[in-house]
Amino acid sequence: VCPVGALYEKDYTWGLIKDIANPRKRVTVQVAPAVRVAIGEEFGYEPGTDVTGKLVTALKKLGFDDVFDTDYAADLTIMEEAAEFKQRLEKYLSGDKSVKLPILTSCCPAWVNFIEHHYPDMLDIPSSAKSPQQMFGAVLKNIWGPARGIKRDEIINVSIMPCLAKKYESSRPEFATDGIPDVDYSISTRELAHLLKQSNIDLRKLDESEFDNPLGYSTGAAVIFGRTGGVIEAATRTLYEWVTNETLEDVDFKAMRGMEGIKISEVKVGDTIVKIGIANGLSAARDILDRVKTGEEFFHAIEIMACKGGCVGGGGQPYHHGNFEKIVKRAEGLQSIDNGKTFRKSHENPYIQSLYEKYLEHPLSSEAHRILHTKYYSKKDLK
Ligand code: SF4
Repeated sequence: VCPVGALYEKDYTWGLIKDIANPRKRVTVQVAPAVRVAIGEEFGYEPGTDVTGKLVTALKKLGFDDVFDTDYAADLTIMEEAAEFKQRLEKYLSGDKSVKLPILTSCCPAWVNFIEHHYPDMLDIPSSAKSPQQMFGAVLKNIWGPARGIKRDEIINVSIMPCLAKKYESSRPEFATDGIPDVDYSISTRELAHLLKQSNIDLRKLDESEFDNPLGYSTGAAVIFGRTGGVIEAATRTLYEWVTNETLEDVDFKAMRGMEGIKISEVKVGDTIVKIGIANGLSAARDILDRVKTGEEFFHAIEIMACKGGCVGGGGQPYHHGNFEKIVKRAEGLQSIDNGKTFRKSHENPYIQSLYEKYLEHPLSSEAHRILHTKYYSKKDLK
């Protein structure tokens, strides 16, 4: 078994074409953050160019009924993950020995697979929050569809991902209800570019369009999920305001950015200096986890992404042929999008606020746990 799921590569494009042609199906698509700054390379744009608006137009031309944004669910992931972080941090600081830190981010399926295989004795520390891809599918099929009278088996959800491990993640049995997965299948950035070319759709010739709402609106915190350090930077923006009840004026945690293997950052949150580790790639993950396991170093939270650079360097992205500068430029492209957003903290997303008001009550509520959280399983015997 490949520990990062990268060998689980299956091409779903033919199935997608058949679904789009089926009038009995409502075919929806979600687009991951890192795709929008990389797919343009397949059409002659410089790495890092934001082609979001053209990509939305292209997906509508392909025939999707609804074009949504995984970034919406990245904001939702932060709501649950930051709430879990706050809860664990406060219990830990009050001396509750039943609570363990660090909390580990859990949105990278290759990393989740890695810890399930290689560190099964540490499975109680990752956040139980599902990844943005899976939160998106769960909200779509448990809330969005029923609110519109559309049954689960009438909705198809396709994710466009920079990642090959996302194909494996969407097929995990815990992400299905009555045998119907929350995300039907995942297509890589490269596969989508190929399909667009086969369909004579050239991004350069398209006007820009907007994602469909409510599942298409996001903050700057969501888009930086696509680069190393981005998930924990987004979580820290929200954690800070929730713990201190003060406005975080400067949201740019620059020490969490950059392409080093391991970054360490300390942030004053109320009376506590929160120590954060960021592992960029799986060898860095092994290094930092060993430090935690042996007690050599303590962290309150650690972000781990399997691919170098994070999802901008994912295995489903346009080939970079060893030119790492392309990955750096894609990360810079995401940062520009974040910088230009009206809202840059996930808890400020008005559509996410409305989701909680109408359906989920508050982060970590029983309904939020039911549809937005997951469990991990030891796979040590499968090594
Ligand atoms: Fe997928 Fe790589 Fe991103 Fe992990 S870091 S979610 S393996 S693209």
